[in-house]
Amino acid sequence: MELILFFILAVSIASFYTTLVYRIYFYFYTPERKKYSSVEKWKKILFESSNCESCKTHLTAISLIPVLGYFFSKEKCKSCGYKIPKIYFITEICFGILFIGLYFITKNLALSFSFLFLVGHLLLTAYTDYKKFSIDYENLPFIFLFGFLVHYFFGENFFTLERLYVFLFLLVLFLILHFFSPNGLGLGDVFFVSVFGYITGFPLFILFLNFAYIIGFCISFLIRDKTKSFLKMKVPMGIYFSISLLIVLLLKFGNAFT
Ligand SMILES: [Zn+2]
Repeated sequence: MELILFFILAVSIASFYTTLVYRIYFYFYTPERKKYSSVEKWKKILFESSNCESCKTHLTAISLIPVLGYFFSKEKCKSCGYKIPKIYFITEICFGILFIGLYFITKNLALSFSFLFLVGHLLLTAYTDYKKFSIDYENLPFIFLFGFLVHYFFGENFFTLERLYVFLFLLVLFLILHFFSPNGLGLGDVFFVSVFGYITGFPLFILFLNFAYIIGFCISFLIRDKTKSFLKMKVPMGIYFSISLLIVLLLKFGNAFT
């Protein structure tokens, strides 16, 4: 019973974040951004009722139910027939499974929920990087906050000199790399990798970097455009930094409790 209830809660949080991510992208990264002031944008992002991405018709209450709504609405918008992308549904299920898995291993509710919110914010970073090769700076304080909370509930001191050294080391190293290759490594990447390094700490940040670049390399190689030079391919590292941070933290917490 308890697990089912938590699963529904996790899926609802996922549903909130998928909407949030889509709207932040829509109001801040598409031509729509010029139509409204910042306050208007945030009002729309946070309070506007859900509507169809294609025709803007308000969605019925039943299609708003996380996961099940997707089936109830027969995967389509009732008024224009727009096919609802499967990715929403898949994301919600993944959140649910991730949460249940983590809670099952750690038996730590606060940790598991904080982790879920962290994943939500990483999703935003990955999505804007995927769509526009740009990562959202405003998102960084939230990632830091939830990075702190998961460690707080885990019972680990988050504000240590050791972590600060990792942060400074990565900041200097990546600033130098950015200086030599400003197109290959954006300034956004520099800040994100440094903060993610702070969150993972020593020595896990080494694992974090390795995972990020190995996964990034493999996926880029698989999806490469064979007519163009692989070395000149633009890689949205924000996605791989986010994936890697999740893996490292999951391994850390999973390992501590088993
Ligand atoms: Zn529609």
